[in-house]
Amino acid sequence: MTLSYSTKNLPKQLFINNEYVDSKSSKKLSVYNPKDGSLLADDVPLAGEQDVDVAVDAAEKAFPAWKKMSANQRRGILNRFADLVEKNADSIAQLSRISLGAPAAFGAFEIGLCAECFRYNAGFIDKFGGESWPQEDGFLKIVRNEPLGVTAGIVPWNGPIGTIGLKAGPALATGNCFILKPSEKTPFSSLALGTLIKEAGFPPGVFQVLTGDGSTGALLASHMRIRKVSFTGSIATGKKIQEMAAKSNLKRVTLELGGKSPAVVFDDCNLENAVTWTANAITANTGQVCFAASRVYVQEGIYDKFIEKYKEAMKAKAKEIGDPDDKSTNIGPLVDEAQFKRVQGFIERGQQGQGTLAVGGKRVGDKGFYLEPTVFTDVDPKSEIHCEEIFGPVSVVKKFKTEEEIMQLSNNTNFGLMAGVFTQDINKALRVASDFDSGMVGINCVSIMFTMTPFGGSKESGLGRECGVHALRAFTEPKTIMINMSY
Ligand code: NAD
Repeated sequence: MTLSYSTKNLPKQLFINNEYVDSKSSKKLSVYNPKDGSLLADDVPLAGEQDVDVAVDAAEKAFPAWKKMSANQRRGILNRFADLVEKNADSIAQLSRISLGAPAAFGAFEIGLCAECFRYNAGFIDKFGGESWPQEDGFLKIVRNEPLGVTAGIVPWNGPIGTIGLKAGPALATGNCFILKPSEKTPFSSLALGTLIKEAGFPPGVFQVLTGDGSTGALLASHMRIRKVSFTGSIATGKKIQEMAAKSNLKRVTLELGGKSPAVVFDDCNLENAVTWTANAITANTGQVCFAASRVYVQEGIYDKFIEKYKEAMKAKAKEIGDPDDKSTNIGPLVDEAQFKRVQGFIERGQQGQGTLAVGGKRVGDKGFYLEPTVFTDVDPKSEIHCEEIFGPVSVVKKFKTEEEIMQLSNNTNFGLMAGVFTQDINKALRVASDFDSGMVGINCVSIMFTMTPFGGSKESGLGRECGVHALRAFTEPKTIMINMSY
């Protein structure tokens, strides 16, 4: 089956128990195209309490057989789903692009990440067998990795397809049922997956999609029969989710939250490499990336040369801005008017004594939410633009003298998602990498991830990890079985 959606024919039904159904709630979401602000649809379902309950009932019913399904059968279903996602890449990417605004290359990256997450976790199904300890003390001990039951994934708009793979892949591989709640800003690509879920062979109730806003997310996070919520989004919402989880049934939570990631560029770095990585990091997906290197710290000996080249690189990036539907475009608009105004607000306030506007800062064109890549220099380390996540193509650059001073400043934040260090001195690189308070560190690279290595943040940037074996652990609980061998 090949998906054949278009802007005139969008998926607008919930996917529950392997069927597309109307929502029992009369509330609807409106979704807009950020390239021109036009309305795409004002009748996208906003799932309410009854819808959530029906989906949870179906998932609970499906769980016993799904968790007992043989490893190779389950692996086959996940792999087929990955194949179908790739086969329908253009259609799914378009459904994402029309409301996110990210150009084709980002869509292709996301489809690849999603499919790879399903395949990676499918490959783990028969290799995540638990542990056992010998019986010399009279007891044979077996530890099983038990699935949790009905689980949910609440995802953001800035990576609407990739984040599905990061959560649904390990949840389903380990035998859980999974309810996906996409962002209200980017619901269509998730809804379209229903057809592929059924075709891949997932039994009814195993993998469902409920569109909605924060109220739907809150119903999932506080539901008494959902055993885990994996969430990606803002710190404020993440804290609410943890609270709802604790106040309901103490469901498990994984939180992938925001960042204000530092890149530390030392005098002895390869200049071209440092400029390329730092400029790409803050402009990919129009800067709407949780692990974007948005604080760039440059040592005094190389500062002038770096800033000249960094400014050039950001000006060149401005020329890559365009209509996301045009194949040659690399940078699209911000996701919507609210985000655009938010980022513009930071830029305006930033110019009132927080730093020097060195590049960009202006709207591009007069329709749609396009913004020039923007750089502030000489920033006050206590200022808002230096300390808060802007979530747009805006970076701050600051000069430093010593390693000690810059590590102190880098870590003087409640964020801790990503960090980067640029130097050709391996001892310094490893020392700095170990000194960063962050979940991930790049050496001579930054703002990068791999499916096989833990992805996530320290401090307020998150709780738990996605990717690698950590993702499977996050969707299972060890059960210890002790056998009395002398009986
Ligand atoms: P958000 O927190 O506003 O929304 C994320 C999701 O949570 C959406 O699906 C939304 O409907 C839902 N939600 C909102 N309020 C809720 C509530 N009270 N209860 C339950 N669910 C609720 O975040 P956003 O604006 O969509 O995404 C941007 C943020 O996400 C940024 O801060 C960014 O750094 C972060 N992010 C983090 C990662 C990561 O892996 N660390 C990845 C991408 C984005």
